[in-house]
Amino acid sequence: MEPDPSAEPGPAFSTASSAAFPAAFAAVVIDFFGTLTTSAPDDLWLRAAAASAEPLGLPAGQWRDVLSASFVERATGALGDLTETFRVLARRCGIEPSEAALARACAARVKAQNALFVFRDDAAAGLAALKSRGYRLGLLSDCTSELPAAWPGLAVAPYFDTVAFSCAEGVKKPDPAFFRLVCDRLAVAPGDCLYVGDGGSRELSGAAAVGMTPVMLRADDWHHNSAHDREDDWTGPEIGSFTELIRVIDTAGLSARSLLAHHQDRD
Ligand SMILES: [Mg+2]
Repeated sequence: MEPDPSAEPGPAFSTASSAAFPAAFAAVVIDFFGTLTTSAPDDLWLRAAAASAEPLGLPAGQWRDVLSASFVERATGALGDLTETFRVLARRCGIEPSEAALARACAARVKAQNALFVFRDDAAAGLAALKSRGYRLGLLSDCTSELPAAWPGLAVAPYFDTVAFSCAEGVKKPDPAFFRLVCDRLAVAPGDCLYVGDGGSRELSGAAAVGMTPVMLRADDWHHNSAHDREDDWTGPEIGSFTELIRVIDTAGLSARSLLAHHQDRD
């Protein structure tokens, strides 16, 4: 009998293991920075920090270090809005900034962050393809207040059924509550969700811990990306682009089993 080229490979998967996976997903939850957007290397973050350090009269390196050290606090909104956050951080640097200096630093920060909202060439087309195939889409981002402020005007926003921003929710990856929150808003069980991310904040393990199926987006610029606590030791399924994700869907249907088969084919 001729092999059926459309059939998923069988020998690598026992009946028991395939039965443990959902046949297909109902929703796809997607990370923002380094996933929808192109990678942001260290020197880009340093230049961004320099822009908001200058009005405060602080060395760029010191300001970058204080920003980096406070990432968890900032990403969970623990330091207040941007102005209050910068006031707290400036005090940690040993200065008491004027309101005018703070305002200029905050404006520089917003401008620099907005410059990071550059999407991958195939991101919008990939999101459109997912929507046209019936998947509900959720955005899950560890971020500070600039992203939710800009979100309604971003090109990718209309594709999403729901969003969850860490700074607004007071919880971040890899806390299981953050992943469950986006599933609840999508009205789908975690087991019916695919999760796509570059691995920042150990998001892939976090997604797996609640029962989602994670896949790493390891794009060509992945190794340049500067991301907090990225799980570079990830050995699970990965894709190189949204285009590749859609190809997996169209050749095998989007299921955990097909992703694992695809992953094995890539190795
Ligand atoms: Mg990311």
